[in-house]
Amino acid sequence: MRPARALIDLAALRHNYQLAREISGAKALAVIKADAYGHGAVQCAKALQDKADGFAVACIEEALELREAGISAPILLLEGFFEASELALIQQHDFWCVLHANWQLEAVLKTPLKQPLNLWLKLDSGMHRVGLCPTDYHHAWQQLIQSGKAAKLTKMSHFARADEPDCARSREQFETFAQATEGLSGEVSLHNSPATLAWPSFKSDWVRPGIMLYGATPFAQAQSQAARLQPVMTLESKIISVRELPIGEPVGYGGRFVSIKLTRVGVVALGYADGYPRHAPNGTPVAIDGKPSRLIGRVSMDMLTVDLTDLPQAGLGSRVELWGKQVPASEVAQYAQTIPYQLFCNLKRAVRVYATN
Ligand SMILES: *Cc1c(COP(=O)(O)O)cnc(C)c1O
Repeated sequence: MRPARALIDLAALRHNYQLAREISGAKALAVIKADAYGHGAVQCAKALQDKADGFAVACIEEALELREAGISAPILLLEGFFEASELALIQQHDFWCVLHANWQLEAVLKTPLKQPLNLWLKLDSGMHRVGLCPTDYHHAWQQLIQSGKAAKLTKMSHFARADEPDCARSREQFETFAQATEGLSGEVSLHNSPATLAWPSFKSDWVRPGIMLYGATPFAQAQSQAARLQPVMTLESKIISVRELPIGEPVGYGGRFVSIKLTRVGVVALGYADGYPRHAPNGTPVAIDGKPSRLIGRVSMDMLTVDLTDLPQAGLGSRVELWGKQVPASEVAQYAQTIPYQLFCNLKRAVRVYATN
């Protein structure tokens, strides 16, 4: 059996969820959209369901998958519905629903409902992607209240730059939110992971942690709360071939790495078809039997090559960690000029193996 696999530590997931709650002092919707950022939405939901105040996903298809797997906790649809016809299923399964655009608001107002919905009215406080304009917000709120269509109405917004602790934009967004929602009763939900970790002075009744649940830091620099996270996914495989290269010999496609000394090369059974970033440069960290080493040569579809020169005990069958407990995914992401979110979401083919303690 091919040894490429992603170990998923569900105890670490539970630890990180608890941390989100503890830091915020708020209720937490575990964001498990996009198959829980590649970690498996159903398995993650099951691991959290005795603890979690609720879950959040991108769309009704993802929410239905959870209900079909027996998850009965609240599930928020972060982008609401894409067509008004979804409102029937939203009622039937009791999904909570974001309204982020005027067309969604109008659809709710004019669709007859069997029972009122749990609605989250989203404000565009400065990210300028989705959400109602500050000038429209009060009126929309009043319309929903008067329509009787909202069993519960939550005030919501989203930060564009919460991962930059020195950036004034988050405070500006918070102030815009405070002004636009002034005088409207109801709970508040503002915080994604970086806001939960770095901006605890803004208050949410509901935080919406995503990446932090999976134990990766959303920050480019060290951050004290993020240091308390435990990595959930360990992507690993094994060395399937070893060779020694004399000085001046290239490795792999395009000869991107050329040995400048006698070099021992290990070939690892894992490639970009498993989700490892093809753009990872020479020098990207890996761990081999627990010891630090580096990627050398271009990443292939099914294999990649690592430097064994300083690890004489390593060889055929050695375990190679591409990211996880020893090699932070955020570090690999920086080398590959991406973010850990994308590394996780790209995971495919490598089998997921779950551990609960
Ligand atoms: C994805 C998402 C989150 C979670 O973001 P993280 O940065 O992963 O914590 C929170 N809120 C909304 C609206 C989202 O779309």
